[in-house]
Order: sequence, then structure tokens, then C-alpha cells
Amino acid sequence: MNYRSTRNSSIKTQSAHAIVKGLSDEGGLYVPESIPKLSEQEILDLCDKSYVDRAYTVFGKFLTDFTPEELRHCVESAYNTKNFDTDNIAEITKLKGGRYVLELWHGPTCAFKDMALQILPYLLTTSAKKTVDGKQIAILVATSGDTGKAALEGFKDVPGTSISVFYPEDGVSPMQKRQMTTQSGENVNVCAIKGNFDDCQNGVKAIFTDEEIAKKLAANNILLSSANSINWGRLAPQIVYYVSVYAQLVKDKEIEFGEKINIVVPTGNFGNILAAYYAKLMGIPVNKLICASNSNNVLTDFINTGVYDRNRRFYTTVSPSMDILISSNLERLLYHLTGENDALINEWFGSLKESGKYEVNDAVKKQLGELFYAGWCSDDETKSVISKTFADEHYLLDTHTAVAVKVCEDYKSKTGDNTKTVIASTANPYKFGRAVYEAVGGNASIEDEFELIAKLEEKTGTKIPAPLAATKDKAVRFTGSVEKQEMSKTVLDFLGS
Ligand SMILES: *Cc1c(COP(=O)(O)O)cnc(C)c1O
Repeated sequence: MNYRSTRNSSIKTQSAHAIVKGLSDEGGLYVPESIPKLSEQEILDLCDKSYVDRAYTVFGKFLTDFTPEELRHCVESAYNTKNFDTDNIAEITKLKGGRYVLELWHGPTCAFKDMALQILPYLLTTSAKKTVDGKQIAILVATSGDTGKAALEGFKDVPGTSISVFYPEDGVSPMQKRQMTTQSGENVNVCAIKGNFDDCQNGVKAIFTDEEIAKKLAANNILLSSANSINWGRLAPQIVYYVSVYAQLVKDKEIEFGEKINIVVPTGNFGNILAAYYAKLMGIPVNKLICASNSNNVLTDFINTGVYDRNRRFYTTVSPSMDILISSNLERLLYHLTGENDALINEWFGSLKESGKYEVNDAVKKQLGELFYAGWCSDDETKSVISKTFADEHYLLDTHTAVAVKVCEDYKSKTGDNTKTVIASTANPYKFGRAVYEAVGGNASIEDEFELIAKLEEKTGTKIPAPLAATKDKAVRFTGSVEKQEMSKTVLDFLGS
């Protein structure tokens, strides 16, 4: 299996190289040159398998330059009960009306990013051995919250790696900050930036492209790498859970083998829903992919009109992990839908860079309409869905998953489609406790975060996840806060270079 760059189809490489590099030199994203298929028999065989074995099968199709032993090591090291609070790794909760919530937040940081970031360190160190043997890998992350913590948990104390995370001083939730500043591990560094998320991201990008820094690090045998969601090593693990949920629903006799399902995904950077599209291409019977957005509804408009236009107001919402106006992974989808047309991708994404806008052609519009349904909802609607779902079914949704539930409801009433539906649940409600507590009628003026989530627990009879509760008594290790100009010095000091 070879990988191509979306901006230059003549670039051809293997998965290990794509994972170590993250982004192709000319700025393209790596995509598999063809999507491997699972036969009916293979899907049937997965029904009686564990999550680890399902992951092993899917990875075996994409990472063909890994040996079977290497893949086994990666999947077994990541998907176990040391890291996840359930043997099943992802749980399924059945709601009324043929809806199944796929809970992707049973990992150490209580957000779906763990599904990929628990295995990425193993994929990356294995890839590095094949391609840049002997080098230390230094991961740099700019985060608005969930990715930073999940990457820290994934890379902490992984031999041959280190990780530096930068977050905006006033731009993350109290729980997210607490999770990061109490992080354990000998190879981790966390630093606040006096600035916003864009400052963090620009600072990290500047370090990546600074030749002086690269030279200093090379002298110490260190290579910089990235853990953000454009890396193929983060996308491949997400395909696994869509294959797995189908196999599990067949096994549980919730669906017939071969029966189509809908999948609804609360979407930001388009990584998670793209993985569902790949699962469909692999042979998982999927009817509609439903793309759910909050008020930052650039994707809703794009899927409905074929015009992508980021020139719009940016909203800060109760589902902050979806507050995004440039969905990077959309580039991969469009590369496939244009028949791997790198010239068109360059044209459209060049235009996005210049004017913040592009329009796809009619052939792509038609496919978008067939594959996807897109919708969005407001913060008020998000909260009322949390309240209603809790009242009707005693199930507590987080603010992101609630967006998906609302858009799913709108889709059903608009189309009358009764296909059974998997709802990707991307975070545990206690990660966004304040908005959730308010939604179920609590008094959100309580300032202390731990007091507030204790009240939420009391009110709903649900349980604070152990990893979140544990941050209360952990010592804060990282109090540093620097100007954005000091980021490279912070990294070099930490790396002893
Ligand atoms: C990252 C994130 C999302 C968005 O996922 P994408 O793959 O970027 O579309 C949604 N919900 C939560 C809780 C997240 O952390």
C-alpha cells in the first residue's frame, strides 16, 4: 500500500514515512492510493473478535510496511484496560428510536482523541525505527484543549520520544488546564502562552520551519514531529472504531449482517467523519454520513452548496472542540472525490489560502449530496437536547455529542429515514461540566470546577470519570507562561539543545 500527497500525486511513499513526516513537503496530506476492502467474510469474522483483533485487521490493510509482530505490539500496547476503563475500549449505549451512541471517551483523557493518541506513539516509534533509526522524536503540539492532554497521555514516558505542549493561557476550560498542568511523565513539558490559540499554532509552525533550530536539534540527534490530526497515524486508528461498531451491532443482533447504518459525527477538523467515510469505502454498509456542526457551520454550508467560505464570524460555543473554520481533513475527501486530481486540489486550497473561499465542481457537489447530510444547531438547542435526553432516557450527553443528536433528529424529521444510526460520542460530559450542569437545570454560577462537577454527579446520579476526579489531588507541575516570542527558547531549553 502506497501513500500519495493530495497536492502532488506523483509523490509516492509508505505509511512509516507518512507517519514520521506528518505533512508532505509541498503542504499536501498523505492519503492511501487506494482504499483496501474488507470482504463480507472478513467483516463477519470480526464479529466475534476483540477490539484489539479488529484493530489489528484494519491496520494490516493500511500499514503494509509494518510486520505482523510490529502491528500486534502497537495495538496491544494501546488498547488495553491499563489505558481504557473498559475491555470493549469503545462502548455502545442504545437509545430509543434505533440510535446507538458509540462512546469513544473511555480512555485516559475522556475525549475521543485518545482512540488515536493512545496508539500514535507506538505507530510513530515503530515508523521512526524503519525510516530514521536512532533519532529521538520530539513532538510539538499547539492545543485548544483536548488534543494536548490526549497527546501528553499518549507520549508520556514513551522511550525515544518527548513532548512539548503549548496552550493559550486563557483559552482552555478549567478542567482542561488542570488536566494538562498536573501531567505526569519524565519526557513531558507543558507551557501556557500569553496569547490565543492561533499564536500557539503559529509559534509551533515557526519552530517547525526554523532552519537554525533544526540544525541545533539535528546535532543532538533529535527530529521534530507532530501529533495533530493531519497525520495519517491519527486517522487510521479512527477507521477501526467504525468497523468495530458495525461488527459489534451485528454480533449483538441489533442489525442484520449487510443492513446499512447511518453515522452521525460532531465535526470540527473533519478527521472523525472522514474515518467513517473510509470505513464505508472499505465495505462497511453505510447509508448516510451525517455531518453535525455548531454555530461555526462552514461545513453545513459547504456540503449543501459546494461553496466553502471561511469569511464569516467566529463563534465561541459550548462545544469548543468544534469551534473551527478551517477543516483540514476535508482536503483528503476532496482528493478522493475528484478522482485524485491534485491540480484541482491545489487550485481550491490555493484559493482558500488567498481569499478564504473556494467552490467545487458539479461532479463533486453531486457526490457530496449523495454521501452526506449536513446540519447544525445553536448553543440553546444543544443544551435543550442535553436536558431532554436526560429527562427522557436518563442518559447524559456532552455538549459535542448533543450537537450530533440534534442534527440526527432534524435529519430524521426532514427525510423520514428510519435507518438505524450510530452517533459518535466524542467526550465525556464531565469534561464540559459547566454547560452540561446548566443544561440539566443546575446553578452554573458555582465557581470551583470540582464543586460544580460534584453537584452534577449528585443531580444526575452519573459518575465523574476517575481520571478527571484524580486531577483534583494531583500537584500542579507546570506553572510556566511565556510570551509567544519565547516559544522556541522554551522548546530548545527543554530539549537541552
Ligand atoms: C476534536 C473533537 C471534535 C472534532 O473532531 P474532528 O475530527 O476534528 O472533526 C469533536 N468533539 C470533541 C469532544 C473533540 O475533542
